Amino acid sequence: MSKHDCYTCGAPNAMHPFKGRDFTVTFKQLTRHVPNLAGEQCSECAEVEFDAPSAERYAQAGDELIEDAKRVVADEMKRIRRKLHFTQKSAVQLLSGGGHNAFSRYERAEVEPPKPLFVLMRLLDRHPELVKELHAIYECADINALLEQKQQQREKTR
Ligand SMILES: [Zn+2]
Repeated sequence: MSKHDCYTCGAPNAMHPFKGRDFTVTFKQLTRHVPNLAGEQCSECAEVEFDAPSAERYAQAGDELIEDAKRVVADEMKRIRRKLHFTQKSAVQLLSGGGHNAFSRYERAEVEPPKPLFVLMRLLDRHPELVKELHAIYECADINALLEQKQQQREKTR
């Protein structure tokens, strides 16, 4: 393979062949290892250009990572909900709001759960004792107390 100019930065004769190198594909914070790839790298800007079979394998690893990540998130949503003894309906009521079938769609990987909801589920997975707080939060006694204060302030100004 003869050297040629970098397609990205234009540096002359800067592309150097490599083979047998490992790369990592990432999707959000999730990663997957792709071993033994070959191609060329620019010595100036570090841009990598894979050869055709390596480009194919790298792209496929990325696609599979996204597909697997969606499935893993969906399975985690289901596992944690069951661990907390929620039905899909009560999980919507206490946690997510939205349509009555929201959790069903998250658990079938039809829709990605909103990030705050997935964070909340993972926190509850680590601290399931907080579920009792959820019921108190749902009752809204604290918010109703604040509303009563607002009402009293409003009446004072009349
Ligand atoms: Zn370059």
